[in-house]
Amino acid sequence: MTSSVQIYDLHCHSDQSDGILSPEALVSRAKAQNVSVLALTDHDTVSGIARARAQADIEGLTLVTGIEFSSQWCGRGVHIVGLNVDLNCSALGSAIEKQEQQRAERAQCIAEKLESMGVSGAFEGAQKHSDEGVIGRPHFAAFLVDAGYVKNIQQAFKKYLGAGKPGDIKQMWPEIETIVDWIRASGGTPVLAHPKKYNMTRTKLCAMVADFKEAGGTAIEVVSGAQQDEVTRDLARIATKYDLLASCGSDFHSPGGKWQELGNFSQLPESVQPVWSQW
Ligand code: AMP
Ligand code: MN
Ligand code: MN
Ligand code: MN
Repeated sequence: MTSSVQIYDLHCHSDQSDGILSPEALVSRAKAQNVSVLALTDHDTVSGIARARAQADIEGLTLVTGIEFSSQWCGRGVHIVGLNVDLNCSALGSAIEKQEQQRAERAQCIAEKLESMGVSGAFEGAQKHSDEGVIGRPHFAAFLVDAGYVKNIQQAFKKYLGAGKPGDIKQMWPEIETIVDWIRASGGTPVLAHPKKYNMTRTKLCAMVADFKEAGGTAIEVVSGAQQDEVTRDLARIATKYDLLASCGSDFHSPGGKWQELGNFSQLPESVQPVWSQW
């Protein structure tokens, strides 16, 4: 029996940020995984959207315009997804320009930190891995593996780039309020991404969710990739408590490895209101 349930995957990455697949290949893969509605949410860029949309038209899949903005809250890096942002909005264009600038400066900063840890040529190395796209920590990680400083990506984050390590630089990211304003100004829906991936206590997490809601945030990812049912239930409770719509997505970056496959995650609980119920 074939299921008539539509699969919404509202969070994934292409090679325009730190994913592996081209926007076209990503959309084709989503189609093969029975995804009906896909949001491409590259980090701080929408440069893959037009290509993804053209492919979605060919494949007969609905593409939602998305972006995953980097922000900070109380000194921690936090990600806010914008869904259905208007690409023609000048507020969005200037926001992305600012983030690009911040990313470029941050990459220089990360390279300097790595230099002080005895790693040379990191900026050029990361740049090469980013293939002229947005430079992020995963590109530094790939360089560190290639240059033999570490055995794998996980080690690169553990030793150099992960939370609390010298290469984890997030001071330049705007506060949540600014990001939410940007997304709303461009007609989009601000969604708090993968709330359980910040290693916060539940009290801290709720404080952050309250601030996000206060700032005008409207949705929260209740399902992000593979997660325990108890985590889903807890996030559903948080969504209800703060009167937030619920989103879901794989956060797919590449086939295999630690990343979840496109469309492959559990459904939203009945108790929450899906973010797409208002579309
Ligand atoms: P950035 O946007 O430059 O701060 O880099 C953040 C990205 O690094 C995340 O979106 C993930 O794709 C990746 N990342 C973060 N932590 C890890 C980790 N421990 N292992 C592999 N990738 C990671
Ligand atoms: Mn990423
Ligand atoms: Mn993220
Ligand atoms: Mn992501």
